[in-house]
Amino acid sequence: MRIELRDERRQRMGRIDVDPALRPTRVKIVDSDREVFLNWETALDDGGRLRRCVACGCTDLFAEKVFPMLTGVVVVLAFAGFVVGALGFFGAIRFAGSPHVLVAMSVILVLDVAILLFSRRRLVCYRCRSSFHGLPIARYYRSWDRSIAEGHPPPPSPPARQTEPLRRASEGEGRGPGEEPAPVDAVVRGGAGR
Ligand SMILES: [Zn+2]
Repeated sequence: MRIELRDERRQRMGRIDVDPALRPTRVKIVDSDREVFLNWETALDDGGRLRRCVACGCTDLFAEKVFPMLTGVVVVLAFAGFVVGALGFFGAIRFAGSPHVLVAMSVILVLDVAILLFSRRRLVCYRCRSSFHGLPIARYYRSWDRSIAEGHPPPPSPPARQTEPLRRASEGEGRGPGEEPAPVDAVVRGGAGR
């Protein structure tokens, strides 16, 4: 199983490759010296299917189809085939009904089928957005759902959380020259409570 790991702020941490049968709790991120801890407790069902995120423990996951890079090429080919066919229809190109076009259309058809065969599904965690590839996916997983996603709002960005109390603390210091300790203490306590 391959995991594209994200932290609790949904920032990408890197990729890890794990064997679900071994359930490794400490895994090194690929091409990095960082190590992460995974929680496998009740994470897999009897069939080896993921029940919850091993990174953050969230039980809400959604299934998503992953298309290979080939898709863009096929779109261009299909458009080219359509143009050639349309030109042939209006008699602009004589060979439009010739084997060339048939071959081109057949190639597009084969590529379409290949995409269907090679596209894979992955599971994504609603809370941390870590994604899980190359594992059996239980049937009850649905695609992304707005009502479930609203239960996992994106975490506030850290700079906004840190600057506000700092700014208030400096304001409080400058405000009362005569009564120094009391207002500063109150401001610090108020800031820490957030
Ligand atoms: Zn998660």
